[in-house]
Formats: sequence, structure tokens, C-alpha cells
Amino acid sequence: MTIHSITRSPQFGRWLQLLPGLIAALFTLAFSSWILLTTDEGKKERSNQLEQDLLWQKQAITQQIIADTDAITALAATDYSRQSALFQARAMSLIQNSPEIISLVIRNQTDSNVWWGAPQQRTLPFNGESGWSYLRTEPEQPSLAQFALPMADGKHFIVATISFDRLLQQQVPWWIAQRYQVLLLNHNFATLAAKSSRQLDPSGLKTRISLDSPPLGLAIQAELYHAPRHRLTESLPWLLLVLAIGMLASTALLHRVMRVRSFAESQLRAETALRQAMEDSLVSGMRAMDKDGRLIYVNRAFCEMTGYSADELLGQQPPLPYWPPEELERCQAAFDAIRQGRADPNGQAVRFMRKNGERFDVSLHGSNLINAEGRHIGWMGSLYDITELKREREVLQASHQRFVTVLDSLDTAVAVSDADSGELLMSNRQFDRSFNLPDRRGRCCIVPFSARRFDTPVDSEWYDGLHKRWFQIKSRHNLWVDDSDVWLEVATDITALKSAAERERLQNEKIQQTSRLISMGEMASSLAHELNQPLGAIASYASGCRNILANPTPNLQQLSQAIDKMGEQARRAGQIIRGIREFVQRRAPHRRRCTITGLLDTVLDLQSHEAVRRQVAISISEPSDLPDLYVDPIMLEQVLFNLIRNAMEAMSETPIEQKTLAIMLSREHDYLQVIIADRGTGISAEQMEQLFKPFYTTKDTGMGMGLNICRSIIEYHQGRLWAENNPSGGCRFIFTVPFSEESQANEP
Ligand code: ADP
Repeated sequence: MTIHSITRSPQFGRWLQLLPGLIAALFTLAFSSWILLTTDEGKKERSNQLEQDLLWQKQAITQQIIADTDAITALAATDYSRQSALFQARAMSLIQNSPEIISLVIRNQTDSNVWWGAPQQRTLPFNGESGWSYLRTEPEQPSLAQFALPMADGKHFIVATISFDRLLQQQVPWWIAQRYQVLLLNHNFATLAAKSSRQLDPSGLKTRISLDSPPLGLAIQAELYHAPRHRLTESLPWLLLVLAIGMLASTALLHRVMRVRSFAESQLRAETALRQAMEDSLVSGMRAMDKDGRLIYVNRAFCEMTGYSADELLGQQPPLPYWPPEELERCQAAFDAIRQGRADPNGQAVRFMRKNGERFDVSLHGSNLINAEGRHIGWMGSLYDITELKREREVLQASHQRFVTVLDSLDTAVAVSDADSGELLMSNRQFDRSFNLPDRRGRCCIVPFSARRFDTPVDSEWYDGLHKRWFQIKSRHNLWVDDSDVWLEVATDITALKSAAERERLQNEKIQQTSRLISMGEMASSLAHELNQPLGAIASYASGCRNILANPTPNLQQLSQAIDKMGEQARRAGQIIRGIREFVQRRAPHRRRCTITGLLDTVLDLQSHEAVRRQVAISISEPSDLPDLYVDPIMLEQVLFNLIRNAMEAMSETPIEQKTLAIMLSREHDYLQVIIADRGTGISAEQMEQLFKPFYTTKDTGMGMGLNICRSIIEYHQGRLWAENNPSGGCRFIFTVPFSEESQANEP
């Protein structure tokens, strides 16, 4: 497995990181176990050795005692009186060979007096019993034992005194004395004798064993001496253990460091991968060169742009293979500008060449290449392919030019202004010319129209007082190229139209007045009749008053009533005259609240005489809940007057029984509908087309303006006027007027 594949397998890498720690832990564990085991085994070994040595020691002491016992028994069997020389020789040999026998005496059995003794200077007490016994002496005296046997002569005892001290001195060899403290203990385990005394082993390792002979319940005990070892030998295992633990700790530390490092490495790998992905996803080419101008890095986009592979480019020096031969100088200049830090921060436009010879334009940006230590090691250049951008810009420019040309050739003024500030953002030549705008745009140049504050499209007329011109302004709320709110305005000069309309209006007014004068002429007889009534009444009241006054006792109450009546009739006559004057007068439209029935009453009052004269029966049908109208009453009266008069005139030839004129009022949604139906001549198809045209008449004395004026008046009130033939004969004229509220009524 290669290093690369190891680093690739995170599982394996993790195990590899743990391995040193694992080995160190196992080593520490094995080593400490070894120390414990060797310590324990050593102890056991020493204990076994001690037991073996003590057994040997017991053997040695027991054999010596047995040998001494045998020798004393042999002496006791020797006849001292006959073989005294032999006895003494044997006794002296025994004392010499067995230094533990410190005294050998022959005592009388009767009085225990010493008969013979060796060595001479020792006289020790005797308890008078045969066999083995302790010899009680003073406490500081070494412990002693006596062995007494009756001699062969039957009169004496042979008594041997044995020193336990000497016994130990003699019987404990040097190699045991060097290792152990050997003690001779009595049956109570009190120390009788001890062989040497040094520092004992702190482990307290000791063992005890009873002696078979002499039969005094003696025991020997051996305890291990402290065997001083070399300090280094003693501390080396512990030192090694500490080192192993240290190694374990340092491995753990190392593991942590490695984890941090591995984390940093994975971060770095991710960072590198991200950087690589970012570089690969860049559409701008990037290349780096060292201080000698040698290419040391190119990204994928750069290779795709130039058509060369990275291998073909890296290491290349100017002139670079993607410099077109005809552009060598410019490319070199751009190259030098980057190297000398003179490059335009907004980029320099350069033409490069692909491997297949195709030329392309780029915008070249350069900057210093600084390494991690902050050292300047070369230059980094980025380039964007602007060929398409350039082409698009040219196309856009041409399109813009076309747009401006079309706009400027329009006769209509067009402008775009900011919805909030009114700042003029764009205008065509006609606009600038119409409003005498300076040839500049921006905040200082404001659209000359009044500010608009609503979002719905607006069509309005605007009078430019300065230049005395009328404009029709069509405004549309729109989003501008930068998504800001703007108004698009198209201003058409309607000064000429306005003047023509005004002229027409004045002319119409004149015609209307003329028409009314004619109507008045036609009404003259009816008016005379109308006025006759109040005037006749006034005259009769006047003669009545005279009669009352002629009475010597005039009835003043009657006189007062007659005068009141006269006044009333005079007022009525005045009203009739005022009505006629208002009707005829040329005046501006004046709207007010009124009812259709009120208007009809006025007109029928004026026409009543004519109706009677023509024997026309007039009927009115009306619903009860008609709302008020907000109209010019005189104008509406004129319409009703014309239509009723035309209807009556159309029935000149109609048989009397059919001479009916029906006036029907109805409500059609928000409109009042008025139908004036007659049983007259009706209207032919050709007439229908001409009916509302000015000066169309079939009458000898007619002007042909009546219906035309009626339609203008109704349309002025946002209504409609049309004519239909009656299925039962004659025709009917129908008009509608909205029941509009005062506030909504639109005054032009
Ligand atoms: P004038 O009454 O002076 O002729 P109008 O404009 O009032 O002018 O009428 C135009 C023409 O329409 C009349 O000459 C007549 O021929 C026709 N006309 C109008 N009202 C009626 C009607 N009720 N029945 C038949 N024809 C009519």
C-alpha cells in the first residue's frame, strides 16, 4: 500500500495513528507485569531457598547433637576406675571436637559432688536428673542444656553441658550466616542463641523448624538478611517503567498533535479542493508567471480560451504562443505594464490568438503574486474574453442608435422622467424642441408638467402658459431599466385642434341661440296666449277694484284680495317672460340638481297651447322613485322641447284619434331613459342616416339643427340619443342621462 493510498483510506490512517499508542500501552502493561511477576517469583524463590537451607541447617545441628549424645553415651559406658586414661583421652577428644560441649563432669549419684571434670575451671550446677534438661543460669548467661547419663559403675552420672551459642557458632556455616539471621528458640519461641545479627530484609521473609534432638522442644529460625543490591539495578526496572509511562503519555500527546494536524490537513485538502473547484468553475482565465516572466500556472478556463494545454504553456516565456504575430508589440507592452505595475486597474484590452489561429479579445488585469512569506515572486494575470461582449455592445449601440433615430424623427414629444423627483431621464428631439429644454439631462432638468401622484395611466391636457400652447399628455407608469419607477410621457401639441374646437363651440353656441330664437318665434303665438291669461286676469281684477272703490262703502277686504290676485298674476307673467329670456339667452352651461318631472312640466307648459292647437293628446308614464338629476336644466328643457315639437309636427297628417304623444320615463341602471313616441310619419332608412347631421331638414321652414344640438347636449351630459321607428307606426326618440352625483359630474 502506498503512502498515497494510506492517506486516502481514512479508516486505515486512523488505525495507523493509534498504533504507536497501542504499542506503548502494551509495552507498559507487559513491563509492569514483568516487574510484578519477577518480584513475586524472586520472593518465592528466596522463600524456597530459605526452607531448603533451614532443613539442611536442622540436619547439621541434629546430627551434631546425635553425634555428641552417642559420644557421651560411649563415655558413660566406659569404666572410669579401670580405664581412666582411655576415658580422659576420649573425653578430651570429645570436648575438643565438639566446642558446644563446654563442660563434661562426673558426679556422684548420691551427693552430686563432682568427681571428675573437664575443663577444670567450669563448675556448673546440676539438677540431678538423667537425660536432657535446660540448665537454669542467670539471665545474661548464654542458654545452656545439660545431658546426664548414669555411668556403668552405677555410682556416678556423666553430665555434659552444651552451649547453644557455641552450637550455632559451630554448626551454622558461613554461607548460611551470610544470608540469614539464624536463631535457636526454646519451646516458647524465646531466643536461646543467635548467629550474627545484621539488617534484616524488609520483606520479613523467615521460616522456623523444630529440632528433633535434643528433645527439649527446640526450634531454629532463619530470617533473610537485607541483601544490598546496586542502586541502579534496583531502580532500573522502575526507571524503565517510568520511561514506558512517559512514552505512553508522549504517544498520547503525539496522537493528539497528529489528530490536530490531520484535522488541519483535511481542512487544507478541503480548502485546496474548493479552490481547485472555484478555479475550474471560473470563466475568466488565470495565469501566473514568475519574476522571469515564465508561466508557472494556468487555470482550466485559460487553457480552454487559448486552446493550449497546461503542459504546452507552463514554462513558456515571451513571446507567448497565444500572442498573434501582428499584435506582438501590444501584447509585449501589456505584459511589461503588468510587470512594471503600470497596468490599468480597469483592465487593458488585448487581442490574443487561439491555437487554431482564431483571434479573440480579452480584458487583461494584473496584480503582484505574493507568496506565504510575503515575498513578491511574480505576477498573477486574469483575463476575460470580451469578444462576445464587444459584439453585443456594438449590436446594442446600433440598436440604440436606431431607437434614438426613430424617437427623434417622431412629431410627438416623448420623455421618461423619475416618478419621485420628476427628473428627466430621457427625451426625444421633439420634446426638447417643444419645451425649449437645454441639451442636458439630470437633476437640474425637470419635466415641465405638474407632478403626478397616482399610479393609473393618465390622459390629460396641459396648457403651456409660457409658449401659449396646448398639449395632450398621455402618461403611463412604468419600470425603468434600473427597475426604478418612471413616467413615460407622450405630449402631442393640440393647440391647433383646441383652437378649431373652440371655434366650433362658439359656432355651435351661436347656432343654438339662433335655434332658440327660431323656436321662440315659433312659440310667439303660444307665448302671447300664455301672457294673455295673466294680463287678462290683471285687467279684470283692476276693473273689479274700480267697481269696489266706486262703492261708497268699499269692501276693503275684497279690495285687498283682488290686489293680491293682481300681484300674483303679474308675478306669473314675469316668470313666463324670465323663462323665455333664459331659454333664448346665450349662456355657459350651468348644472344644478333638478327632477325630470320638473323639467317636463316647464316644457309642457310652454307647449300646451301648441298641443291644444294641434289636437295632440300627451300622456306621461313615470315610475315613482326616480332620483334627482344633476344637469343644466335649460339645456335639457331645450332637448325635450325640440323632441316634443318635432313629434307634434310629424303628426300633422295623422288622424285625430291617433294623434297621441307618449312620454315614458324609466330607470335603466344608473341612467334615466326618456322615450318620446309619436304616431307620425316615421323615419325612412335614408333619413335615419342623415337625421343627426347638421342642417338636415325635410321641412320648408326648418333649420335642420335641432336634433344635432340635442345630441351634443345629451353627449355633453354623458348620455346617448338615438331614434327608432315605432312598430305600431310613427317613431320614437330615446335619450339617456346618468343620475350622477354632483361630485362625480364631470365638467369639461
Ligand atoms: P328641423 O326640425 O328644423 O327640420 P330637426 O333637426 O329638428 O330640424 O329635424 C331634422 C329632420 O328630422 C326633420 O326635418 C324631420 O324630417 C326629421 N324628424 C325629426 N323628428 C321627427 C319625427 N318625430 N318624426 C319624423 N321625422 C322627424
